[in-house]
Amino acid sequence: MINSTITESFDVIVLGGGPAGLTAGIYLGRAKLKTLIINEGSIGGQMVLTHAIANYPGAKVDISGRDLSLDMKAQAKEFGCKFESNVEVTGIDLESKQKLVEIDNDEVFSARTIIIATGGTPRPMGVNGEAKFKGAGVSYCATCDGDFFTDREIIVVGGGNSALEEAVALTQFASKVTVIHQFDHFQATEHAIKVARENEKISFIMESEIQEVLGDQTLTGVDLMHMKTKEHSMVTTDGIFVFIGYVANTASLPKSLALNDRNEIIADEIMATNVTGVFAAGDVREKRYRQITTAVSDGTIAALSAIEFLQK
Ligand SMILES: Cc1cc2nc3c(=O)[nH]c(=O)nc-3n(C[C@H](O)[C@H](O)[C@H](O)COP(=O)(O)OP(=O)(O)OC[C@H]3O[C@@H](n4cnc5c(N)ncnc54)[C@H](O)[C@@H]3O)c2cc1C
Repeated sequence: MINSTITESFDVIVLGGGPAGLTAGIYLGRAKLKTLIINEGSIGGQMVLTHAIANYPGAKVDISGRDLSLDMKAQAKEFGCKFESNVEVTGIDLESKQKLVEIDNDEVFSARTIIIATGGTPRPMGVNGEAKFKGAGVSYCATCDGDFFTDREIIVVGGGNSALEEAVALTQFASKVTVIHQFDHFQATEHAIKVARENEKISFIMESEIQEVLGDQTLTGVDLMHMKTKEHSMVTTDGIFVFIGYVANTASLPKSLALNDRNEIIADEIMATNVTGVFAAGDVREKRYRQITTAVSDGTIAALSAIEFLQK
């Protein structure tokens, strides 16, 4: 039950401060709409998990995810957006004309329009031992944890662009990186595959899947199973970095929002959801390609749709 005293009213509330939410904020602020961006995690979202971004147009090649996040935030702030960061969203009410968002079981903000840009969270492997060593040997972020593994041997799990690019980035620190992938081929660009293959510190174990993360006090290795032969083997390692996709951050959203079977928000080409006045943008919505550029595009469209909605 949301507290009924409203702390402050806005034209638009954006939930999520990744590239989709920050871009929406830039457009809304420029349109002189009173905009609040509420972000549960660090500003920048998944961008801050990224060591170096090479494919964002106009930014210098290999800009860090953190720097690009700070640049986007500064731009949104310059256009007048207000921020509530590192808070917990404890209630959302989309039913009435004035939508409500409560943070930290305390303050309540209202707006006629909401843009949901809550993105995704790295998908865990879901095997025994993973949770036990999360943050103590198992990581989902090379930028955050890479230097803990200086001169150590690590495993990278995954076969997409993120896995291969982060494996290469991790060779700055680790003495050896073993990429483990469940298929016999990668789902990455030719360029990413070539760069990873040419790196002398990287080796590959294909068609194999981790069944268990092993260790008593500290992580010592993994139990690996070959996908075809079903044979098990033990691989010793000091750490594991997991890059196998994401889960949409929709668990805490109201049940009235239509989701697909992967729990992603269904939105149309103007980013409108099934709830009037509520738009979705970025990785949280059902779509094929998830990149910073596609999140930025969604954020633009959602903001323009919100502006039009408010003008009607
Ligand atoms: C390791 C890795 C490497 C990548 N490398 C690249 C790359 O090189 N180039 C590229 O283009 N893309 C890359 N991507 C993908 C890219 O980062 C994402 O597609 C993009 O960040 C999605 O943006 P978003 O704004 O939709 O969501 P996100 O970036 O996920 O941001 C969503 C934000 O919303 C917050 N949030 C969650 N729930 C709530 C809530 N209920 N209320 C308020 N806030 C909430 C989250 O904490 C987060 O800060 C990479 C991703 C990963 C994981």
